[in-house]
Amino acid sequence: MAKKDKGHCSFCGRPEIETSILVSGIDSQICNFCIEQANLILKEETSESYDVPSGKTTLLKPVEIKAFLDKYVIGQEDAKKVLSVAVYNHYKRIAQESDENDVEIEKSNIILVGETGTGKTLLAKTISRMLHVPFAIADATVLTEAGYVGEDVESILTRLLQAADYNVAAAEKGIIFIDEVDKIARKSDNPSITRDVSGEGVQQALLKLLEGTSVNVPPQGGRKHPEQKMISVNTKNILFVAGGAFHGIDRIIASRLRTNVVGYSFSGLNDESIDRKNLLQYIAPSDLKNFGLIPEIVGRLPVLTYLDPLDKDALRRILTEPKNALTKQFEKLFGMDDIELTFEPEALEFIVDKSIEFKLGARGLRSIIEAILVDAMFELPSKKRTSKLNITKEYASEKFGKASLAKLRAAV
Ligand code: ADP
Repeated sequence: MAKKDKGHCSFCGRPEIETSILVSGIDSQICNFCIEQANLILKEETSESYDVPSGKTTLLKPVEIKAFLDKYVIGQEDAKKVLSVAVYNHYKRIAQESDENDVEIEKSNIILVGETGTGKTLLAKTISRMLHVPFAIADATVLTEAGYVGEDVESILTRLLQAADYNVAAAEKGIIFIDEVDKIARKSDNPSITRDVSGEGVQQALLKLLEGTSVNVPPQGGRKHPEQKMISVNTKNILFVAGGAFHGIDRIIASRLRTNVVGYSFSGLNDESIDRKNLLQYIAPSDLKNFGLIPEIVGRLPVLTYLDPLDKDALRRILTEPKNALTKQFEKLFGMDDIELTFEPEALEFIVDKSIEFKLGARGLRSIIEAILVDAMFELPSKKRTSKLNITKEYASEKFGKASLAKLRAAV
């Protein structure tokens, strides 16, 4: 039966008779074809699929990369700048059309040196978020040489594959953050260690990944065993970001600086110009070697930068400024119950002071706020008339007093 032509699609102009459905709005109509088209556009725009940079992709310039990092990471200006350039160069390298006679651009894997909780992981994570590439965090402390109790180095790639939803091409252009890389430094000066299963052997295994090689990866992780089906992953274009606190490296830096200064002013630094409170800013590859990383590993992590320790001002800014700052997150959570949450400046000051006093760092900020707000988060959603909660210093101090410090420490 022919349809009666009541109208046209306001988007493509098709008469109703040529459509299977025409949905009416206030003063317009849309047909099934346009709904499908719009749905596709929506999917494309909001898709979580990986937008791996290729020759055709316009890469963000270093200044734009840094501007993105600025939204999420407070301070750490040097690290952000160095990282922006390294990431830009890395993806330019991937994007270049390969030509045998061409100059080969080497991979710019990165090493970040800085105390725990200063933003190393956050930096790497933010970069991957910006680029829409798969991202995995690997903990170097659990890695051991193949055959020993612990995880094989390949397990790092399993994580990346999982993060990429087993899309091998996407994983091969992803980012891996290797945390606590300082823990696999050579421990030869420690006489109690007879077998260095988690030291140099692991560094050698890691070196292969950093250099770029094809690795057979067990898709579900765990140990390799003969019957298991493996997925081959090439690490040539994976960007590795290593991070570590390198406790004690400041002494190595200090002694190097002194030799330079006493000899001749090779570094251009003299005693007065050295900022002794923050020696990490002078870190050089030789310091990493002296700390116990093998020279080959240091060579494969050519981009070296440092993170500043977080002072009171930085912690205060971390609480409120980043795009997903802690206070904003809790305001949103309360807002979902129609409760307007506000913090008085003195209360914020209190949170920062406690984090410093108990050496909880930036990670402690969240556990302190949680401790302060837990009663309110428990009770208020069931109360009908509460529409506002203003956190004063007194409120914060009372609730914090009830919290167990041991629990706070454990949460960090
Ligand atoms: P690291 O890897 O250096 O040990 P993280 O990056 O894991 O430290 O930082 C822990 C948490 O502390 C982050 O999730 C973030 O909430 C906060 N944080 C640390 N440093 C910063 C910073 N510079 N800017 C914003 N937030 C930070």
